[in-house]
Amino acid sequence: MQVNCPKCDADISDSYEHDDFSVGIVGGWYCDGCDIGVAEHEVEREPLDGDIQIDPVHHIRGSLGTPLSKISGRPGHKGYEEFCRIAQSWGYE
Ligand SMILES: [Zn+2]
Repeated sequence: MQVNCPKCDADISDSYEHDDFSVGIVGGWYCDGCDIGVAEHEVEREPLDGDIQIDPVHHIRGSLGTPLSKISGRPGHKGYEEFCRIAQSWGYE
């Protein structure tokens, strides 16, 4: 599989490194010239029109269906009940 730098388009296929969680490295490629890494999961497939990009923050918000601004962790605050409901769904009391 050939991978090109998203910035300078250089062939960076040979720079592949496997995941190494012990040192916090996510598997992927690296362009020396641009000093940027390309994470493996970012190039597994071509994005399609209408594709939903899953990033953790938006994924959580989407699954809750509640903007974080409407949630409050302080009793008596507007949003506290919603906070409790969501917290319970995470397994917290
Ligand atoms: Zn580059």
